Amino acid sequence: MESAITFLREHFANEITIRENVPMSHYTTLQAGGHARYLVDVGRIDVFAKLAAVVQTMDVRYIILGSGSNVLASDKGIEALVIINSCARIDIGEETYAETGCWLQDLVLKAAQKNRTGLEFAVGIPGTLGGALVSNAGAYRSNIESTLTAVEIVRDGERKWVKPDYLEFKYRDSILRRQDPPKIALLSVRMNLSEDDPKQIYDRAREFQRQRIMKQPPHASAGSFFKNVYDVELAQEIEGLTDGMRANGVIPAGYLMEACGLKGHIEGRACITAKHANYICNLGGATAQDIKRLATVAKKRVFDRFGIMLEEEVMYIGDWDDAE
Ligand SMILES: Cc1cc2nc3c(=O)[nH]c(=O)nc-3n(C[C@H](O)[C@H](O)[C@H](O)COP(=O)(O)OP(=O)(O)OC[C@H]3O[C@@H](n4cnc5c(N)ncnc54)[C@H](O)[C@@H]3O)c2cc1C
Repeated sequence: MESAITFLREHFANEITIRENVPMSHYTTLQAGGHARYLVDVGRIDVFAKLAAVVQTMDVRYIILGSGSNVLASDKGIEALVIINSCARIDIGEETYAETGCWLQDLVLKAAQKNRTGLEFAVGIPGTLGGALVSNAGAYRSNIESTLTAVEIVRDGERKWVKPDYLEFKYRDSILRRQDPPKIALLSVRMNLSEDDPKQIYDRAREFQRQRIMKQPPHASAGSFFKNVYDVELAQEIEGLTDGMRANGVIPAGYLMEACGLKGHIEGRACITAKHANYICNLGGATAQDIKRLATVAKKRVFDRFGIMLEEEVMYIGDWDDAE
């Protein structure tokens, strides 16, 4: 690893600064975890593409992050090069172009200012466009996938444009979330955002924002910790779901957790909030272990009561071992 870093420092001499032993708590919204062995912040798309190609072909251990709002870094840290993607250009027009390091909120706002619709659902979702693509971020029955016409990537050292289905999007999932995922860096996207009446765009966005504020706890978190469960048959059996949930086969993870009495449960300095059972929050000073232990308790309680194994929406990064 060290020799690879020395090579990168020489090869990208005036283009990047690689720092060492950087606390991940500063780069993740859960504000927990150990240190990144190496960390570099990249703001130019040509440099990001070139760096991604080099680390992929040299087989350097790396992880790309946007704003760290969907990850939990291990207390042991990350023995790899963390690449923070800050490439943030946005051009809204007939066709929209955006670099993946842009804040989703900037994109939502700029699209609305140009009377373009399709992103209102994303109002209030923190993080970058890149992170949104990886988990096919969504809310209110819409998701980021539906806005895309093409995605620019670097895979196995090659920079190219691909169709969105290349990334195999599903509910809160893409090819980048699979076990042993391919080495893909997401660079930029083209989107099709159609024109609409500005008042209607703002009204929709404001309504989504209002609903979000009502249910979102104020503490440090990574949003919903677990994915909702989609199973039409199972949804008929679970008491207390609405007719709409039954019809669509949606079983909210928060509903299952609340039914198990998990609201208010605390492990160390991590807590399942009273406001939203699917939010695991850092009350200040929580370790990654506290947070993961709480997630494990929640999974076990839900499984024991409903026979459902919840799947994390939040991704564990860094060096975890089985004991953790
Ligand atoms: C308060 C709160 C509310 C939230 N509400 C929602 C919601 O309503 N809906 C929803 O879907 N999510 C929600 N989230 C989760 C999160 O905000 C989204 O998943 C967001 O899109 C993640 O973006 P990020 O830049 O923070 O990604 P990160 O956490 O930095 O990264 C997430 C994953 O993507 C990978 N990645 C990031 N960028 C790239 C890239 N350029 N190339 C390759 N891989 C990359 C990382 O390696 C990591 O595996 C919420 C989070 C919080 C804290």
